[in-house]
Amino acid sequence: MKTDVLIIGGGVVGCAIARNLSQYNLDTSIVEKDNDICMGTSKANSSMIHSGYNINGSTLKGKLCLKADVKRYDRMCNELNVEYKHTGSIFAGFNEEHLKIIKAEVENAKKNGLEGVRILNHEEVMKFEPNINPEVKYALFDPNTGTINPFEYTLALAENAVMNGVKVYLNAEVLNIIVKDKKIESVYTTIGSFQPKIIINSAGLYSDKIAEMVDEIDFYVHPRRGEYYVYDKKWRDFVNHCIYSPPTSVSKGMIIVPTVDGNILCGSNAQEIPDKTDFSTTKEYLDYIYRENIHMMFPGLPRMGDVVTTFAGLRAASNTEDFIIDYAKNTPTMINLVGIQSPGLTSAPAIADMVEEMILNIAEFSGIKMTKKKEWNPIRPVRPNLGKMSNDEKTKIIAENPDYAKIICRCETISKGEILDAIHAPIPAMDVDAIKRRTRSGMGRCQGGFCGPRIIAILHEELGIDPLDITKRGGRSNILLSKSKNLSLFEREGNNEKIRL
Ligand SMILES: Cc1cc2nc3c(=O)[nH]c(=O)nc-3n(C[C@H](O)[C@H](O)[C@H](O)COP(=O)(O)OP(=O)(O)OC[C@H]3O[C@@H](n4cnc5c(N)ncnc54)[C@H](O)[C@@H]3O)c2cc1C
Repeated sequence: MKTDVLIIGGGVVGCAIARNLSQYNLDTSIVEKDNDICMGTSKANSSMIHSGYNINGSTLKGKLCLKADVKRYDRMCNELNVEYKHTGSIFAGFNEEHLKIIKAEVENAKKNGLEGVRILNHEEVMKFEPNINPEVKYALFDPNTGTINPFEYTLALAENAVMNGVKVYLNAEVLNIIVKDKKIESVYTTIGSFQPKIIINSAGLYSDKIAEMVDEIDFYVHPRRGEYYVYDKKWRDFVNHCIYSPPTSVSKGMIIVPTVDGNILCGSNAQEIPDKTDFSTTKEYLDYIYRENIHMMFPGLPRMGDVVTTFAGLRAASNTEDFIIDYAKNTPTMINLVGIQSPGLTSAPAIADMVEEMILNIAEFSGIKMTKKKEWNPIRPVRPNLGKMSNDEKTKIIAENPDYAKIICRCETISKGEILDAIHAPIPAMDVDAIKRRTRSGMGRCQGGFCGPRIIAILHEELGIDPLDITKRGGRSNILLSKSKNLSLFEREGNNEKIRL
């Protein structure tokens, strides 16, 4: 397949670049090895949009984080119809050592051009966070930090890019790249070969492996794992801001985040591990996070019981610890993005601008013309989300389409209409977890016990997929093993719903 620009990796970075490039009259394609976009690091992180108050502004990651800019997030999230919560953040201090760090961070914030960063006294902290450990003495308050749902954000970038002509190829793992006379000849993937003029290597943890297919490299990516707790929504009002715990003798400090979806997210440790595929959580580190972070900061949060799930994410740390964004040494038509660890989620729009600029510089040499489209549309239409609608809005939409009245996920109150919207979206949800990531069905307290079979039935009914072929997350993750006889998943004749499998 011929394409002008081939983006390897459908994480937040690849999708932000794709959206930028969708403004041009170019043939742009994303190849993603997994069966959905946002299945790598972009899916499993702290979900914070950092202001950069505590970042070293002279590093590349510092510059790009500051350039990403919270005001830009407001505009972009409006265009993409993505929820972006202006929580602000609090870095809590319990002793004189912490106060020294806080004062230095306030100075750093000024140096980085951030406004409103200030020190709070005990009474002020308690007013901002009534449930915090009352032994807190002072805190740094940054009004500029925010949170986002990283999957929703990445999906929105990708969907908007697709609406504007970008092609997304899933289950397309890059296996090899052939270069001749400093130009790319072919990129071999599990779904066939591509002949791009330019390659963007945004393969996250595997960006070193991709870079190595083309050139000798002097960098590498090493995975650093972080584990998390997710608390039930019944705790949604317990924490108001993104909280940084202070460093202790055994911890560099961790975070507690009130997510846009109403859960509380707590993590994470930073453990060097040898295996880029090891996403396991461990009792050792979950205990550590509870002891050094959760219990220390919010003693009222339980160790178990209301923890709906735990998960781990892998930071793609480079040997320099900074972002490495450069042309491949001997192949100037390939751009490598390596070591995009935190704050990569925040920096993605600024990274995309930088890469756009780099492509403009090599356009002529690569044989592409970078003319802007007249009809580019930055708006990703809003999809109905009943949980966020007023009663009047719900009544109206249900009158127009009764599928929005059929509740499939009881815990998260997700309707059949919302699930059908996900199935028919620009990047369609084709399995149970893809629907879960887009709608939150199955993310509640029962973790899919109730809605799981109903979602299989809807996928069968809507896409005509044999129920035995419906998977949890692609590949061989089939859910049903065999048919015993005519199995009825659910029948409600009165409600005009009868699905026999
Ligand atoms: C524990 C943790 C906490 C973090 N917290 C924050 C935070 O609060 N705020 C913040 O700004 N940042 C945070 N980050 C960093 C942020 O999540 C990352 O910087 C960002 O998600 C990186 O995006 P990416 O697109 O580069 O990588 P990824 O999301 O990993 O995307 C790379 C994609 O490439 C695909 N791929 C790999 N190899 C191939 C191949 N051969 N062929 C085709 N596709 C391939 C992968 O499947 C993957 O989908 C955190 C990271 C971690 C791990």
